[in-house]
This record gives sequence, structure tokens and C-alpha cells, in this order.
Amino acid sequence: MTAYDALMAYERETQALGRVAGRLSWDQETMMPRGAVEQRAEEMGAMQAMMHARKTDPRIGEWLEDARAPDEAGAAQLRLIAHQFERLTRVPSDLTRALASLTSRSQSQWAAARAEDDFASFAPTLEEVVRLKREEGAALADGGDVYDALIDDYEPGASAAHLAAIFDEMRPGLVKLRASALQGIERAPVSGQFAPEVQVALARELAERFGYDLNRGRIDMAVHPFSSGSGDDVRITTRVSEDDPFNCLYSTIHEVGHACYEQGVDPAYHMTPVGQGVSMGVHESQSRIYENQLGRSRAFCHFLYGRMRDAFGDIGVADEEAFYATVNRLHRGYIRTEADEVQYNLHIMLRFELERALIAGDLQVRDLEAAWNDRFKADFGYDVDRASNGVLQDVHWSVGLFGYFPTYSLGNVYAGCLHAALRKDLPDLDDHLAEGDPSAATAWLRENVQRHGGLYEPREVIARACGQEPSAGPLMTYLVEKFGALYPA
Ligand code: ZN
Repeated sequence: MTAYDALMAYERETQALGRVAGRLSWDQETMMPRGAVEQRAEEMGAMQAMMHARKTDPRIGEWLEDARAPDEAGAAQLRLIAHQFERLTRVPSDLTRALASLTSRSQSQWAAARAEDDFASFAPTLEEVVRLKREEGAALADGGDVYDALIDDYEPGASAAHLAAIFDEMRPGLVKLRASALQGIERAPVSGQFAPEVQVALARELAERFGYDLNRGRIDMAVHPFSSGSGDDVRITTRVSEDDPFNCLYSTIHEVGHACYEQGVDPAYHMTPVGQGVSMGVHESQSRIYENQLGRSRAFCHFLYGRMRDAFGDIGVADEEAFYATVNRLHRGYIRTEADEVQYNLHIMLRFELERALIAGDLQVRDLEAAWNDRFKADFGYDVDRASNGVLQDVHWSVGLFGYFPTYSLGNVYAGCLHAALRKDLPDLDDHLAEGDPSAATAWLRENVQRHGGLYEPREVIARACGQEPSAGPLMTYLVEKFGALYPA
């Protein structure tokens, strides 16, 4: 057996065990009995310790030294394995343990502070999280930029400077667009009777129309929608809000985008490091283009309007045009996860700049709430009324996710690039979308993005698919055209 073959056999087993661990997390959010919380924590802790030991096994270093890649995919496998091995072995194990223990406690402290709207009570814990993340980042960076090293966990190859350049280019246009759109009257949401079982049945139908293979997947209910798994077992969850059917329908389409990416990877790569989505940003590009550029398009809304009236009867909108406007309504609000296509990116940029400053040491945790509120006022035009609507709204920082937020907006930028490219290749796409058939677009995405899995670096996947380097231009053009028409000055 060659070193390469031995390494790949070992990795395959690691992948299999990782899938088992992932299914435990899925189970925890969907099926697990409430009384099992403590026991599950112990089970997951044991899995994590075992996985960490496997992934830092010194034999991996030896195999990597001797391994010769048989082909391009093999070279990508070695690159991904080496990257992860280096990452895990650079961080001292007592720091890894300290972070795991702190973040498992800090999440419940964050939840308690959020319930009380009391940032000050959470600040000391968050200070400790930031301190340990800076230590971890420094160990990973090996002399380079600490925040870049943290971003690398989610978006390999991205840098804060490059992301800042993209975001700085977008921010003035987005602020202007939101301000002029919201000068007029806010549009009302839909109204009517939206029975949960009817919502779920329609969500299921949409999932299949968008190409989700339910023979290798399933849809369950969870508090926060997510997708999990890869290869031949890719599951999604959804949720139902009785007065807002779009919550269920569009979060399902979003998760279907993630799931189709995983299901669309070339089966030859299954159960290997290359056999899954390459980064958070590219993943989010798939979920966003399914949800927004395709799912909220005028043509698809034509189809959905008819299906919703069949399913629910009167939904409180006058006609198809009003339906399209309602699906794409901009509204004032504080919460990132409820934000529309225009304002979502402003939420992300705010978090990106604040966490970058925290990790750089340019901003202290005790000043974070004031900095948040100032920035929010500047971009959104009104004051944050309480901490749960501001600095305490997201779980991410409490669990040590620094460097994760910018991948959401990067995903939107990538979605903008991919959408422009696929529209060029598919001039009659709208005719199909109007009949509820996005398959030409999803096939294009599978062929140009999804099947590659981790074969190329994230930016390279997008550049190859689009025939040019990704930039903010296509997304901004799309947003200005779409929302300029929906909200004429
Ligand atoms: Zn997503």
C-alpha cells in the first residue's frame, strides 16, 4: 500500500465517523427527547475528543510527507488534509480544551443576558472568549494576521483586507437604496389562514422542484432551519410560522440550496475531504441564489402566487404584481435573520467591522454595545431600542465564531456573480421559472459549482464558473435594478 492509499483509507474512516457525529447533532435539534440533554453532551464530548485525536494522529504527518498524488483530485485531497492537520496541530491542546469548555458555558450565559437585555452581565464572559480566540488566532497565524487566520476556518484563502474592500464598495449603495426605498410606505405582509401542514406540504413540493433528492434526504422540523450531512445523506429542517408562510417556504428553499450543493458533489469524491462543499461562502452562494435570485424572481413569483392561492385561498394580496412586491418587501427592523436582500448585507458589514476590531485589539468588549449602536444608527437611520435587538441578537460570538459572519455576505456576492453568468447561458430561464421549473438553473449550478466539491479553492470555483474574478458589481447591479423598480424614487 502506498502512503497516499494508506492516508486516504484512514481519511475515509475519519469521514465516516464525522458523519456519525454530525447525525448526533442533527438528532439533537430534531428528535432527541428533552431529558437526554446531559447524556447527549457527554456523548458528543466523547465523539469530539475521539475525532480530535484521529485528526491530529502523527501518522498523518508521516503519510503526508511520503504521499504522491495520483491526479488533480488527489492533489486537492492532500492539500485539504495537510491544511486541516497543520491547523489542528498548531493550536496547543490545552487552549483547544479551554475554548471548548468556555464556549459551552458562555452560550447559556449569552442566552440569559439576551433574555434580560443586559449586555454588561455578559461582557466579562465575552471578553474571555475574545482573549482565547485571539490566542488561537495567533497560534494559527504563525506571524500573519490573527483575524485572517480565524476567517480561514470558514473561508480558506480569504483575507479581511480583501473582504473589507468588497464591502466598502457595496456599503454606500446599500445605505442609499434602503434609505430611498423606506422613505415610502412600508408594504404589508400577506394575511390569511396558513395551516402548518399545508405550508409543509408546499415547502416539500418546492424542495423537489428545486432539485432536492428526498431519496437521499429528508425534511424535519427544528427551531432554527439548517442543513446537515453530505453525499447520500443530506438532511434539512424547516419551521412554520402560522401568520408568515414565507418563513417556511423561503427558509426551505434556502436550505435546499445548501443540500443540493452537498448532493451535487461528484459521487467519486464521496466520503473524502474533497467530497463536500468547499467553504461557507460558496455554500451560502448556493442557498442564496436558490432562495433569492431564483426563488424571489418575478417569474418564479408568478408560479408561486398561483400555487399559494390553490393551497391557502385568499392571501390578502390584490394580484400577481402585488404578490411579487410582498415577497420582496423591505421593512424596518433590527434582526439580521429577518432582514431582506438589501439590508442583510448591512447587518453583516456591521458585525464584520466590529469583530475585526475586537480581534485586532482596536475595540474593547466594554465599548462594543455603544459601537454597535452607533454603527446601526449610521447605516439604518434609527436607534437600537434594546440589547436583544442589537449586540446580543446573534449566538455566534458567544460560541467563539469570529470570522464566520463575513462569509454570509461573501456568499451573496458570489451568488450575484453566478446569477449574472447563468442568465447569460440560459436566456429563456424565466419561461421555465414561471412554470415552477428551476431545473435549468440548478443543473447549471451543479455542473459549474456543486460537482467540484473541494477540488478548487473557494474563489477559484466561482471564477471558473463565471469566467472572471468574483466582485461585488453583479450583486449591486441586480439589487439596484430589482429594488429600484420595486421602490421607485
Ligand atoms: Zn445558509
